[in-house]
Amino acid sequence: MDNRFNAQPIPNNAFSSMPVADKGTSLPPFTKQELASFRHKAEKPLYCFMVFINVAVIVAAVICSIFAYYGEGPLTGEAGEWIIRNLFGASSENVEAYAEVLFILIMLPLILMAAVYLYYAQYRANSIRITEKNFPEIYQVVEDYSKRLGLKRVPKIYLTQENGVLNAFSTFILRRQYIVLLTDLFEVAYLEHHDLESMKFIIAHEMSHIRLRHATFSYQMSILFANYIPILSSTLSRAREYSCDRVAQHLVGVSGVEPMLALVVGKHLYKKVDIEDYVKHCRETRGFFVFLLNMLSTHPIMPKRIQALLKGSGSGRLFF
Ligand SMILES: [Zn+2]
Repeated sequence: MDNRFNAQPIPNNAFSSMPVADKGTSLPPFTKQELASFRHKAEKPLYCFMVFINVAVIVAAVICSIFAYYGEGPLTGEAGEWIIRNLFGASSENVEAYAEVLFILIMLPLILMAAVYLYYAQYRANSIRITEKNFPEIYQVVEDYSKRLGLKRVPKIYLTQENGVLNAFSTFILRRQYIVLLTDLFEVAYLEHHDLESMKFIIAHEMSHIRLRHATFSYQMSILFANYIPILSSTLSRAREYSCDRVAQHLVGVSGVEPMLALVVGKHLYKKVDIEDYVKHCRETRGFFVFLLNMLSTHPIMPKRIQALLKGSGSGRLFF
């Protein structure tokens, strides 16, 4: 969700006087090559590797089930039992247990599908949808960015509060994606700072997850089992975040540092942060446990993310 991208102070205009369409909206949609250049260089290789692992797990489970059916369990012995027990929650004591593995493989996508629709119902039932009538200036932004990103349909955006949590995310049902904005973060566009630019960046980041096909059922299914591998899955996730930050920078034409600072210190104080001093602090945020924290995180730790945003080109640092 993220031209040149210095952390230039965004003018504190009154919201009503701010132009709704930003400078990017009259431009043609991004080309595939442009989008590919915004993607973090490690994202695709990591994704392909995880798809490979996912397919390997499924094939192995199916083969084991077939062998077990004929009474020749290839996953015998301690190692085999450990794999069956820990990966699939089944016991390898008998053939039925192997059948259970196969059943889980078939049922899991169906159960997950029911879960995503239930999750969606929760937001449909407890939120305000952003439309031409409700927060039309935000709806206009979403429409404009949909065209620039080449999305077939304008994603639905739901606004809801979660007791002070500052967050936004994009997610999916079977063939559609939607975005949830939490009110406390959304308010940056309406409270004392009238900071529409930061809100645009947040929306652009989430829409980029949709355009880069991260927030789709098929994508998540393609790495379902590999996602259980802790550091591998979090590393791919961090690469996705860098990719979407970069797309958002090109979409909105701002650095995206300010909305990140809002996540760190809250929606009232982020405009008071001395960015130069914070960047100095970012460079000093090192050491083994900081490294470990980053490795285990689904989002790059904020010092790395902000340094990548300030750099404005290239791929962010996944590890060190
Ligand atoms: Zn994201």
